[in-house]
Amino acid sequence: MPASPAATIRRRLTKPDGRSVWLYAAEPIPEGIEAPAPRGGPVVATPELRWHPLRAEWVDYAANRQERTFLPPAGYDPLAPTEPGGEPTELPAGPWEVAVFENRFPSLAPGAPEPPGTLVPTRPGRGACEVVVYTQAAKGGLGDLELSRVEMLIDVWADRTRELGARPEIEYVMPFENRGVEVGATLQHPHGQIYAYPFVPPIPARELEEERRHRARSGRGLLETHLEAELADGRRILFDEEGVVAFVPVFARYPYEVWVAPRAPVPGLPDVDAPLRAAFARALRAVVRGYDALRGRPFPYVMVFHQAPTDGAAHPEAHLHVEFYPPYRTTERLKYLAGTEIGAGMFTNDALPEAKAAELQAALSAAGELR
Ligand SMILES: [Zn+2]
Repeated sequence: MPASPAATIRRRLTKPDGRSVWLYAAEPIPEGIEAPAPRGGPVVATPELRWHPLRAEWVDYAANRQERTFLPPAGYDPLAPTEPGGEPTELPAGPWEVAVFENRFPSLAPGAPEPPGTLVPTRPGRGACEVVVYTQAAKGGLGDLELSRVEMLIDVWADRTRELGARPEIEYVMPFENRGVEVGATLQHPHGQIYAYPFVPPIPARELEEERRHRARSGRGLLETHLEAELADGRRILFDEEGVVAFVPVFARYPYEVWVAPRAPVPGLPDVDAPLRAAFARALRAVVRGYDALRGRPFPYVMVFHQAPTDGAAHPEAHLHVEFYPPYRTTERLKYLAGTEIGAGMFTNDALPEAKAAELQAALSAAGELR
């Protein structure tokens, strides 16, 4: 049984423009820290949702995101602590380890106003968009963090899921990370994001529906059942320790796609206990270290958490998991979604998951992380 790390301590601050900042650390954070805000003034967020009648789903419009007036100086890192006398960033100096703040250009915002009507149903883009800063260090990634820091991140994702999910208008909370310019990340500083949605978005909704149906049929969890099959097969397993498994799914839609999940179903991040948190942290870091070892440099990916909705209903069918989506084809070429993926929704993958799993197993082994 791994030693339980110190509890994560949180302090909430308010920026001059009214946005919240949450600082997290293992040691108490002193009072009197003032939260900065970058120059350029507050942004009035007016995101709106319009209904796509043929797909039966909402499309989000965040036109306010284009109103960027402040041109930052060269080398400006808005996620670094503000230096004394320096250009204000999003975060204060101080002994914080992980920090979260409300995105200045949110795609979903708590106070989004009622939009004007149009041809299709509309609704305010209410919800939340937050930025999660993993470290004060300007470079690196999840693979470079201490394990205790990755565990703290899991605490932070759980804390935000709990607090955002408790808002009546929020039905789903999704932490994610876009890493690398290849997947659209504009900042190098190690960070991720959290979107809190006023409905269960289509992809998790579809997974949850299949999980519900499987549970009604068999009395067991769908991902739990699939994990057992993956473990019995064994060829695509990258990590299996203390009840957490990382694997290339037999049905991977992308080369180097990896999933990480507890063996036993846990509905969401707020349900993760200390031993599971420790194993989850090791698995996440091992996957990123394996990715980075593949080519000897930072590997781009999109990482998403899927968990139980926060819509007030019980979700015994939900099984917390992480999905990693790299942007590559077999070689160095980027995989752009094109005709069949965009137009038909059928993915074509030019590599079998078994072959990519073998490459990743070798990379994890080289990084000393194969378990
Ligand atoms: Zn999923």
